Amino acid sequence: MMTDPVHAVLLGGSGLVLAGLAAAADAADALSRPEQVAVLVIAALILSGLYLLACTLWPYANCPRCAGSGKSRSPSGKSFRNCPRCKGTGRRERFGRRLLNRGDR
Ligand SMILES: [Zn+2]
Repeated sequence: MMTDPVHAVLLGGSGLVLAGLAAAADAADALSRPEQVAVLVIAALILSGLYLLACTLWPYANCPRCAGSGKSRSPSGKSFRNCPRCKGTGRRERFGRRLLNRGDR
């Protein structure tokens, strides 16, 4: 399983947020229920904002069928045709990029 640096950062970031939420659990007792919800919503907005930003900078990921090669190999491994999933490009558009495309049009 390949993980690009941005995903690693995002995963680390969400881990930090979770750790922060756990550390702030005592403080959270002082917060009212709507304030706790607001903190969670803001954290989710920040994380999804970072994810969408990453999807504008790096809109593509490797095609899951051919692992980015763009080739569908014959059993011998010598000959190949274009991967039917990505039509030989070897790439797929990331989920966040498709969301942004829909917003643009
Ligand atoms: Zn492919």
